Amino acid sequence: IKDLDGILNDYPYADPRWTLEYLAGSLPSHPTRGVRAGYVVTMYASCWYAVSGRIRTSSVLDSMIEGLEGVLPQLGDGTCAHAPDEHPETGFDAAGTAADGIRLRSPGGRACHAAWHDEDRLPVRNWLCPAFLRGLAETALGELRQGRETLFGSRDTARLDAEFLRPDGRIDIGSLTALIEDNQFDEHRDVQEAGLWAARRYAALAADADPVERTVPLLIATWCVEIVEMPYGVAKDIRDILSTVDADPTEDQCAHGDAHPTENRDLQQHLNHLYAPAEFAEPADVSAPDAWLCPRHLAIAARHAIEEINEKFEDEDEYAAEDEDDPETTSAD
Ligand SMILES: [Zn+2]
Ligand SMILES: [Zn+2]
Ligand SMILES: [Zn+2]
Repeated sequence: IKDLDGILNDYPYADPRWTLEYLAGSLPSHPTRGVRAGYVVTMYASCWYAVSGRIRTSSVLDSMIEGLEGVLPQLGDGTCAHAPDEHPETGFDAAGTAADGIRLRSPGGRACHAAWHDEDRLPVRNWLCPAFLRGLAETALGELRQGRETLFGSRDTARLDAEFLRPDGRIDIGSLTALIEDNQFDEHRDVQEAGLWAARRYAALAADADPVERTVPLLIATWCVEIVEMPYGVAKDIRDILSTVDADPTEDQCAHGDAHPTENRDLQQHLNHLYAPAEFAEPADVSAPDAWLCPRHLAIAARHAIEEINEKFEDEDEYAAEDEDDPETTSAD
């Protein structure tokens, strides 16, 4: 209980992943009504946390989804004789609701629940109502399935052409870099998708395309990876593209030694100027374009971003690899 309470209050005592995955897999095949109610209430209370992005492995979501799908057929057709206010209030306090769920699972917990019972606490039997539980299970399943898609699914970025390309087909670099610069926190969806869009633009241009046209989106993609939290679905697609960058260009392709643009630059200013020197003033610490475009510089930038993604998603990569070996565990929807 303490573990889950800490997680839902955002002060985890234990790795939330293992706690949630353990709880998700903890429903026996023939549960008592109390155990089943406790399970559904606990999964419901945990589902918003599970889809918040703090969990980086889809196995947790898959276990929760699988568990709830398994219990759903045991919960009747969703009708009961209760009035709406005879079903417990569950929406406001995830940790409190989870604690209710844990108590429901054992006779001692149910006795404890009954002892606390006062006007605003409905008796245990109301918590056991299958129609009430079905509502919770369906809500949680909806959240979990949608969250799985948002966090681990692929994103369509084609619509962003209209946003980031000008009528002449060139990038509207000023607005693209401003969007990134102004939103570089947490898991800003626009920046995640701008990074993916830029990576895909790099990939779509042929190797003999104008080096500036091709390189600037690549650098934008690596920049986005560094500054916002990427969900796995987006990071994986960016990484696939970055992996196509020549990781080990020959020495004779580079005359810069260590004089490549450093990471601590104001990338907004530098990339604006590099891409559209006629429109954007030269930054004080400007580097020559060929240092930005140098294959060794690009190899370094791509490698940093790839390492960042690898490190963050080590567990999910492992899980995804297991999934490929064993099609049984791949979610069927
Ligand atoms: Zn009911
Ligand atoms: Zn170089
Ligand atoms: Zn210049």
